[in-house]
This record gives sequence, C-alpha cells and structure tokens, in this order.
Amino acid sequence: MEYSEKMFDFRDGINCEIKKDVPMKMYSSFKTGGNASLMLSPKDEKSLFEAVKKCKENNIRPFILGNGSNILVSDGGIDNVVIHIGKGFDEISLIDDTTIRCYAGCSLMRLCRFALENSLSGLEFAYGIPGSVGGAIYMNAGAYGGEMKDVVVSCDYITFDGDKGTYTKDEMQLSYRNSIFNNSDKIIVSVILKLEKGSKTEIENKMNELMGKRKSKQPLEYPSAGSTFKRPEGHFAGQLIEECGLRGKTIGGAQVSEKHCGFIINKNNASSDDIKDLIEFVRDEVLEQKGVYLETEVKFI
Ligand SMILES: Cc1cc2nc3c(=O)[nH]c(=O)nc-3n(C[C@H](O)[C@H](O)[C@H](O)COP(=O)(O)OP(=O)(O)OC[C@H]3O[C@@H](n4cnc5c(N)ncnc54)[C@H](O)[C@@H]3O)c2cc1C
Repeated sequence: MEYSEKMFDFRDGINCEIKKDVPMKMYSSFKTGGNASLMLSPKDEKSLFEAVKKCKENNIRPFILGNGSNILVSDGGIDNVVIHIGKGFDEISLIDDTTIRCYAGCSLMRLCRFALENSLSGLEFAYGIPGSVGGAIYMNAGAYGGEMKDVVVSCDYITFDGDKGTYTKDEMQLSYRNSIFNNSDKIIVSVILKLEKGSKTEIENKMNELMGKRKSKQPLEYPSAGSTFKRPEGHFAGQLIEECGLRGKTIGGAQVSEKHCGFIINKNNASSDDIKDLIEFVRDEVLEQKGVYLETEVKFI
C-alpha cells in the first residue's frame, strides 16, 4: 500500500529522524527526482526495528536508501516511506587482526581508508565507489578485477517483518551486480569482511592508482550513477554505445558522456525523464545496430 499522510502519524513510538516531502535530488547522485513523502533515518538498530515495525503495522513496504549512487528516482517522487541507512549505521571496528565489522550506512570510501590505516589489503578496488557498504553488498559492487564477494564473510539483516537474521557469504548469492537482497524484504544492517595483512605503502599506492584511473577515464565532474548499463557478456557497454555513434547523444539535459560512453550524465539540469528517455534510446539503438540488449545497472525508483 502506498504511503498517505492521512493514514496515521508516523511519529508515534519511533525514535528516528523524520522528514516529510524530502527532495530526492539531494539524495541521488544523478541529482534528479521528485520528493519522497516521508524519510526515516534510524539512529541505531533499535530505531530501525521500530521504523520497520511501524511500516509493517501500516501495510507499508518501505524503500531502503543507501547513498543513492545507483538509483534514478522518478520526477513524480516516491509516494512511500524511505528508510535511509546512513548516519547512525556507520560504525567500523576490528574483530581481529584481519577481520572488520562494518555497519551498512558507512561509506565504502571510509571503509577503504579504515582498511588502509590498519594495513589491510583486499578493498583497494572499492576506493572511489561512492556507495554505502549496504548498497555495495546489495549490488555486489566491483571494479578493476575485485568485487565485494571477494572480501565478505557474512552479513546481518532485518526483514520488513522485524525478524533478524545472518547470511553467510554463500547464502548472500553474490554475483555480477546482484545478490539475494535484490528486490527482497531484507535490510542489510552490518557486514563482516576478511582482508589480508599487507604493506601500507603498497595498499595506498594501489588505491591512489585506481582513483587516478577513475579521474582520468570517468566524467566525475557531472552527476551520474556510474556505469548506466551492466556489462553484456562478451562486450563492453561503453564500446557498443560508442560504435553506435552515440557519444555525446543528448536528450534534454541528459547526455551520453563524451568522456566515457558507458556513463549517462546529468549534463545540464536534466530531469529523471530525460535520463530515462536517453537510457531507452541508447538501449534501442544498441539492440538494433548490434543485436545486444543492454540491461541497466541503475535501479529505477
Ligand atoms: C561516479 C560513480 C562511480 C561508480 N563506480 C562504480 C564501480 O566502479 N563499481 C560499482 O559496482 N558501482 C559503481 N557505482 C555505482 C554505485 O556506487 C554502487 O552500485 C554502490 O554500491 C551503490 O551503493 P549505494 O549505497 O549508493 O546504494 P543506493 O543507490 O542507495 O541503492 C542501490 C540499491 O541498494 C539497495 N540498498 C541500499 N542500501 C541497502 C541496505 N542497507 N539494505 C538493503 N538494501 C539496500 C537500495 O534499495 C537500492 O535498490 C558508481 C556510481 C557513481 C556515481
């Protein structure tokens, strides 16, 4: 059931930060999208439980937001409750010399720096991915030959019914930009990661090298959600798009990046509709010219 303010007062009995009519362009790396009816930002596991319970009591299936770096929110907004896993879920700690426990709202960047400070190797690939740890598990985020699957041991979650559980790595079914959490009723709460002791200098050099590659190859100066499409088997999405003559193709304020054709960027005050129309245009052209269907990595909300 969709959220409607008339149904009940959400403030009763939950200890979350609560905001109404929240402009989602402030929470999406595309910098587009309409308002969310209600945003709950739990302060800890207890208040997350309360928020989930409140949604359940009111037949609401909330949308879970991490850092918003892989979503395209419709211009009409989200007529629903958004539970934002961010501040309050950003604790990181060492369990032993090579094992880290990290909460889902922590940024991947901070986690990478924590690993570096402790001379732990294995997360260098993730340095520069602008997501939260929860979003990175949900998506099995990866780059430069690494992915979250390589470093995850287990993960704690809470369901929309308020039940708590733990998945081992195998149970998480991590595969290319996918996991068991995709479209499920489970909220990732915290993760355990296993890394290896390494040389701090080498780890730092690798992180800087990969960040340098990102800066030189990706249009980081414009809002985007990273690679718009998944890599089709046997191809590279960016290369197919370029070969179809779509470099710089523009619809409204959205553009196929001139720097990297795999990125659709918000070049000039784009709406989400501009971006969506361009995604569909590119997909149709590539299918027609190359016979390859491009599946989006970006989630439409
Ligand atoms: C410039 C740029 C570069 C990028 N480079 C890469 C890259 O190299 N590799 C890569 O894989 N991705 C990349 N991305 C995409 C994005 O950063 C990743 O997919 C990231 O893991 C998304 O995390 P998030 O917290 O932003 O998730 P969001 O965008 O907030 O959400 C994505 C999905 O995860 C779900 N979700 C988020 N948190 C939770 C939670 N705690 N529990 C349950 N569900 C949750 C949401 O409901 C949504 O369906 C890039 C994006 C940008 C903008």
